[in-house]
Amino acid sequence: MSDTPNYGFDTLQIHAGARPDPATGARQTPIYQTTAYVFRDADHAAALFNLQEVGYIYSRLTNPTVAVLQERIATLEGGVGAVCCSSGHAAQIMALFPLMGPGCNVVASTRLYGGTVTQFSQTIKRFGWSAKFVDFDDLDALREAIDDNTRAVFGESIANPGGYVTDIRAVADVADAAGVPLIIDNTSATPYLCRPFEQGASLVVHSTTKYLTGNGTVTGGCVVDSGRFDWSASDKFPSLSAPEPAYHGLKFHETFGPLAYTFHGIAIGLRDLGMTMNPQAAHYTLMGIETLSLRMQRHVENAKQVAAWLEADPRVDYVTYAGLPSSPYAERAERCYPKGAGGLFTFAVKGGYEACVKLVNALEIFSHVANLGDARSLIIHSASTTHRQLTPEQQEAAGAGPNVVRVSIGIEDADDLIADLDQALTKATA
Ligand SMILES: *Cc1c(COP(=O)(O)O)cnc(C)c1O
Repeated sequence: MSDTPNYGFDTLQIHAGARPDPATGARQTPIYQTTAYVFRDADHAAALFNLQEVGYIYSRLTNPTVAVLQERIATLEGGVGAVCCSSGHAAQIMALFPLMGPGCNVVASTRLYGGTVTQFSQTIKRFGWSAKFVDFDDLDALREAIDDNTRAVFGESIANPGGYVTDIRAVADVADAAGVPLIIDNTSATPYLCRPFEQGASLVVHSTTKYLTGNGTVTGGCVVDSGRFDWSASDKFPSLSAPEPAYHGLKFHETFGPLAYTFHGIAIGLRDLGMTMNPQAAHYTLMGIETLSLRMQRHVENAKQVAAWLEADPRVDYVTYAGLPSSPYAERAERCYPKGAGGLFTFAVKGGYEACVKLVNALEIFSHVANLGDARSLIIHSASTTHRQLTPEQQEAAGAGPNVVRVSIGIEDADDLIADLDQALTKATA
């Protein structure tokens, strides 16, 4: 099923990219557990290595199981191509790699997954890259932050740790005017709740570790290309527009058109950085993605119920869920994310840091883990874990202060989740 533009999301999440195995008729996508692929002859091998023919050489670059997942995610996002990687963080490096060079910067939202703040504010400096963080609600500040060395704008659709949703269209307009691509981390929303390309984004990244797999089994990531950004419109993106010495002077954009970024991701990115997804991981994610829409509906339904209950509880100071009518982002969430504001939010416990620690210890159904987007409900005290490396100001900006816990609401019975929170809050605030 490769040309399926008219099927609905629920059909595509099961079928896109997959076809019965040509060798055996196997209905499920086989796990092609192989490192290499036999060339038909020496000419075939040469054509593959010259990028004159598309095919399988070596699983660091491409693998048939991973290829099905790539096509599945690209289809669900409405993109032209995708490259899967070993983790969400690998996907972020892979997404920036064709765009950046020493001295270049990415302008990023202040409201990001804690690990991304660390990756962008610290680690990418080793490549000579840098990041500038701005509040994406201040479009003038965003405009001012973009300079001649900016090569991308980066934000999250529904932001982790929760409570904030990005107006992608408004941010995309600023990025467009500056001639740089907007990259959206769509991990928390998934293409079921948000399709960033329809709102003007050029590239999407995912941690497939989360909702796309949906059961906490494997780490993975994905970079998806809309195919719409004109890499040759300026001289800012020579990796895509100028001759590539490692392929006899081939120009990716001229040769591959809208697939230039995807081909570069495989032929240069995976070849030389090696952040490859393995076929077992792709298999687990393909299993999970088949039920994505059903799970997301339930995540949203449960999150709404649990958030409303917490908001009404006197032991709770406040709840930041963009799906609550009281949220400052309620109108935006309704407009930009009509199917729901996701399953992730934070709440502040009366009693601060101490009470949060007790709460996390007392919960029985909720697991205390550094993960999200699992079928089971998860909780974490961000300030003492995922956001620990950040300054107090960065913690506050990310919505992860010391009195705040983040929950990832699972697909269990909402009544059981509420009862569990009730008993744990009693212990935490006694
Ligand atoms: C988890 C996560 C990441 C990082 O993904 P890994 O698979 O853990 O490397 C990036 N962005 C968001 C929004 C995430 O939730």
